[in-house]
Amino acid sequence: MSAAATEWVLLSRCPSIGHAELLLAALGKAGLGGEIRGRHLTAVQAAPVEVWVQSRNVPRANEVLRGLDERREEASIACPSCGEASPGSFEICWACGAVLPIDAG
Ligand SMILES: [Zn+2]
Repeated sequence: MSAAATEWVLLSRCPSIGHAELLLAALGKAGLGGEIRGRHLTAVQAAPVEVWVQSRNVPRANEVLRGLDERREEASIACPSCGEASPGSFEICWACGAVLPIDAG
């Protein structure tokens, strides 16, 4: 194994697998790879999961993360299933994973 192998860095600790998957999707849209770790632990629903990115992608990944936070303050969608408010940019509820209604404007 080479010492130059890709280094992975913890980007964010998410409250749920759904949240982590949304972050990962946002990273994917930005052309960044990512990895969810701790997925095997989420049989316990509340177990936090971690999103890791390659170290060279950290600056841009942090921008994506910040962008998600900003959107969260702009608008939110109430989950039809559990009532939790999710960021307007989210397609599924961060809390329970239900599909959110798309705001057609
Ligand atoms: Zn929900």
